[in-house]
Amino acid sequence: MTYDYDLFVIGGGSGGVRAARTSAATGARVALAEESRMGGTCVIRGCVPKKIMVFASEFSAQASMARDYGWNATCDSFDWPAFRSKLNGELDRLEQVYRNLLESSGVEMFDTRATLEDAHSVRLGDKTVTAKTILVATGGRPVRPDMVNAHLGLVSDDIFNLETLPKSVLIVGGGYIACEFACILNGLGVEVTQYYRGAQILRGFDDEARGLVAEMMREQGVDLHLGTNIVEMRPASDADIDTPRGTASDAAMGAPAGSFGEVKGHEGEPVWVKATNGDARVYDHVFFATGRTPNSKGMGLEDLGVKINRRGAIEVDEYSKTAVGNIFAIGDVTDRIQLTPVAIREGMAFTETVFKNNPTKPDHHLVASAVFTQPELGTVGLTEEQARDQEEIEVYCTSFRPMKSAFAGRPNRVLMKLIVSAESRKVLGCQIVADGAGELIQMVGIAVKAGLTKEDFDRTVAVHPTMSEELVTMQKPVRTA
Ligand code: NDP
Repeated sequence: MTYDYDLFVIGGGSGGVRAARTSAATGARVALAEESRMGGTCVIRGCVPKKIMVFASEFSAQASMARDYGWNATCDSFDWPAFRSKLNGELDRLEQVYRNLLESSGVEMFDTRATLEDAHSVRLGDKTVTAKTILVATGGRPVRPDMVNAHLGLVSDDIFNLETLPKSVLIVGGGYIACEFACILNGLGVEVTQYYRGAQILRGFDDEARGLVAEMMREQGVDLHLGTNIVEMRPASDADIDTPRGTASDAAMGAPAGSFGEVKGHEGEPVWVKATNGDARVYDHVFFATGRTPNSKGMGLEDLGVKINRRGAIEVDEYSKTAVGNIFAIGDVTDRIQLTPVAIREGMAFTETVFKNNPTKPDHHLVASAVFTQPELGTVGLTEEQARDQEEIEVYCTSFRPMKSAFAGRPNRVLMKLIVSAESRKVLGCQIVADGAGELIQMVGIAVKAGLTKEDFDRTVAVHPTMSEELVTMQKPVRTA
């Protein structure tokens, strides 16, 4: 049978675009459909705008530090509309770059939603095209918790579109997105309260590292409440709520008791919140950073026999193949590791497997990543807790005030930690909490991925004076386990 295309990619994010381009480069006839903006989560409403906001938010602390170094520096008013307009211009530019790349690769683009009629037929509005192979790369989206009036809260997608910068926000969640935006908004001068329901933020990361991040976030002004969640929320405009704005009031002062039931309100208007710790107050916005869900539904996949798990992720084998032989899936929609570079690698492995006759499994082992909090948390390999469960280890760790903050009289501390196998001497994991930890962990990631030992690290002469010289100068383990 002949098809219109050799490959049809659904989703124009980082993974889908890379797979489309690399496949087209083999001579395959490739098309791609995207219902929103080309570039997907990372470029349009994730990593890229977030990182630019991180840059913007760091200047206030830098100005304050500059004063400690003798500069007459101030950074006391932030022009959100000007920044936002420039940010939007940059995203437009990047989207165009993605389009140009696809075009120059010979990939045909459809700016519409795609659904599957059968395993080879893709519905695009009022027309249907056929393809030998289908690749689903539809990513994920943020979810609000299942609670009354959750619609009053914003999610990460909304942050970039705020008309005005709020004076106060409540951030709910303790994961990557919650912690990054707590730091960003705090740095931009917003009064930030953060509720996390568990005992410590950044669950799954190294205990010592996440403890230091939490301590530093508080030090910088984030009002972080652990073991805390929302009990009730409703529009602040509800007449009988008399809780002052801008200050945490006594529990539910003046607020009606009991459950309110679903209340109609406009997303984004001030919200009255009562918490499990008894606090009750009004915030300009509540921001839910309570996780993401794969975009796997409503495309006809299940009807065709593609398996979707309880978390909504498309099930794939090691080659990203679904239960239907000619349908593949990569990226966040498969919920393996939700990171852009991983989706890109999965896309490239897909091309090797399907179009280069070179079956290739994407490598999910020892993927380094960074949480762009302030300070950042960089991580590769095992946490101390994971390593301890696996084998006997030595832990090399130091936490100190780096020269830059010590001179300024600041309490900011950093953490450098290596987890080493007692038997093989290999560095099993590295955890860094410091400004620029994202940049540092990229480099350490090479050494850990290469399987280098503690002695290999020790043979490397330090670069002095730096924070990271500690990684090659720690002599004695602080503990063994
Ligand atoms: P996460 O799953 O990391 O965090 C979700 C948070 O919400 C957790 O703290 C969770 O608590 C909490 N939560 C979930 N449900 C509720 C609820 N009903 N009430 C209160 N709290 C709740 O998701 P994110 O959205 O932050 O990030 C998704 C993924 O995106 C990450 O895993 C990461 O892979 C990727 N990402 C990567 C970034 C980077 O590389 N820098 C940046 C941003 C995202 P609990 O811990 O108790 O489950």
